[in-house]
Amino acid sequence: MSFTIPKTQHACVFDKNGGPIVYKVIPVPTPKPSEILIHVLYSGVCHTDLHAWRGDWPLATKLPLVGGHEGAGVVVAKGSEVKNFEIGDYAGIKWLNGSCMGCEFCMQGAEPNCAQADLSGYTHDGSFQQYATADAVQAAHISKDTKLDAVAPILCAGVTVYKALKTANLRPGQWVAISGAGGGLGTLGIEYAVAMGLRVLAIDGGEEKGALCKKLGAEVYVDFTKSKDIVKEIQDATNGGPHGVINVSVSEKAIDQSVEYVRTLGKVVLVGLPADSYVKSSVFMQVVKSVEILGSYVGNREDTAEALDFFERGLVHSPFKVVGLSQLPEVFKLMGEGKILGRYVLDTAK
Ligand code: NAD
Ligand code: ZN
Ligand code: ZN
Repeated sequence: MSFTIPKTQHACVFDKNGGPIVYKVIPVPTPKPSEILIHVLYSGVCHTDLHAWRGDWPLATKLPLVGGHEGAGVVVAKGSEVKNFEIGDYAGIKWLNGSCMGCEFCMQGAEPNCAQADLSGYTHDGSFQQYATADAVQAAHISKDTKLDAVAPILCAGVTVYKALKTANLRPGQWVAISGAGGGLGTLGIEYAVAMGLRVLAIDGGEEKGALCKKLGAEVYVDFTKSKDIVKEIQDATNGGPHGVINVSVSEKAIDQSVEYVRTLGKVVLVGLPADSYVKSSVFMQVVKSVEILGSYVGNREDTAEALDFFERGLVHSPFKVVGLSQLPEVFKLMGEGKILGRYVLDTAK
């Protein structure tokens, strides 16, 4: 099988953090010996892409930058060293594009934690373009009959919440609270949690998000914009507090509240990355309740394969809306206002 690869393509590019995002024609990149070239058909838009554009994290992006790290497409070319992909295979671009593979963290499969991690749509041009290069070791393998628009959000949002739930180490029948449940990570988090046998309490704002969370399997919905005492409301609804909390909101306040309402011996998992934020925990209460606060950062190749397996078996299928790649600035605006239900997926042909 062979594909005709054009010399130029459409992409969304910015030259400066917070500057204009320009939809324009740029050259198609050439894969290095260790890389594949993916014809990206669809890309999810993650809140991380908004942080990258704003430049609000203590880690510099490359500039100019093509963002995006939930890209799904077809392998159209490969470098001379690539053994694990064939031309025509379906492949996914995920947040971790590459790591050193030699440090103590890489050796134990914690590749995202590598100090030399290379990040799609951050330090390596990502999936907001029609043709993107990806490290063949880290690129995701997607089965042939998979719908590429629907699978795109799994590549970051799905993998991340699945790994966060594994980090919480809960048993079937226990309560998990998902804070930020109506967004991209949150909606998938509800579905993975239900598939793993957990009882879900969803927290977000507004009636529309509440209806969506319930439809996806949450037993309880708490509206942070309306609740008079969110800690009490959550503890009452779960008979003493959830056994675990997955924090995917972009809110420091919501994270602090989760440390308060979590059950004794519970696990607070930090996933969302609000800028300039700290988690505040009363030392006395943390000791007496013996609560654990854990960070969880995307997932490794095994987590990716497992998260994709849940999707391919039809256990998760979070809501998404498809719009053209050129609409990225509008999507960022809605995301910044907290107005997105689930995920927006960009069609790179438009
Ligand atoms: P999103 O914008 O789709 O969803 C965030 C949701 O949080 C929205 O629905 C919003 O209404 C809700 N929210 C806002 N304030 C809240 C509050 N006080 N209480 C409850 N909910 C509240 O964003 P997303 O794409 O799901 O990403 C979420 C965060 O996770 C971002 O900071 C992103 O960078 C981060 N992230 C982290 C990892 C990781 O590996 N740790 C991976 C991917 C994304
Ligand atoms: Zn992401
Ligand atoms: Zn390493």
